[in-house]
Amino acid sequence: MNSERAHETSLVLGASDVHPVFELNAAGHSPFLLTGDHYGRLIPKPLGDLGLPESELVRHIAWDIGIAGVAERLSNHLGAHLIAQRYSRLVIDCNRPPHIASSIPILSEATAIAGNDGLSREDAATRRREIFDPYHQRIDSVIDARLHAKQPTILIALHSFTPVYAGVRRPWHIGTLYHRDNTLPPLLLSALRAEGDLVVGDNEPYAVGDETDYTIPVHGEARGLVNSGIEIRQDLIADESGQRQWAERLARILGAIEERLRPDLTA
Ligand SMILES: [Zn+2]
Repeated sequence: MNSERAHETSLVLGASDVHPVFELNAAGHSPFLLTGDHYGRLIPKPLGDLGLPESELVRHIAWDIGIAGVAERLSNHLGAHLIAQRYSRLVIDCNRPPHIASSIPILSEATAIAGNDGLSREDAATRRREIFDPYHQRIDSVIDARLHAKQPTILIALHSFTPVYAGVRRPWHIGTLYHRDNTLPPLLLSALRAEGDLVVGDNEPYAVGDETDYTIPVHGEARGLVNSGIEIRQDLIADESGQRQWAERLARILGAIEERLRPDLTA
């Protein structure tokens, strides 16, 4: 066996696979730091299609449909640093603690992920080392640098949710997701409700928890940052016009919140 080839196949990212971390406006001056745990749906070439047809790999089980287009536009409107992850959450979920079963799911909603079944500890550790760790280490080091520079920092984790889950229709247009932060979520909720045309979820369709989430507890709460997750319903941001409208709306709302919070923000 060619030893170079053996080395190559031991890695989850092949030679032609891109780096997992995508960034935009890294030099932006906005206090908002945006994250996109489920931004992309790439699969590393050595993993093939994980045993799934293309029709499954474009569904919400693979990524947060529409959020990439909202996140990039919002980052540009605000001049806010966006850090996002390009690989599918079916490869490794960047918003799950790596020790829990759904980190590398063998079942997502009703779909069995054959390529994840019977995965060895080494293969799971490789996915973590090559995808999960670089993404979270980058967020960590950016927060370190911002705190060191006394740059005010408000963490916003951007997600989107499927309009129907397990046969149940979800009424919310947008939801805030939070746990321990008492500063940003109430401001965000009241601003979203004041829009007048939105059904706003308060910790809906999910609440944040230490066991089921990673970005908010680890980068927001443990670092003492003002933070919230934002979840937008996927059918509203499936096309560019929806993505543009939601990015504009959120930029306006977050801009007003920034003005209100600015005197209290300490780095
Ligand atoms: Zn998500």
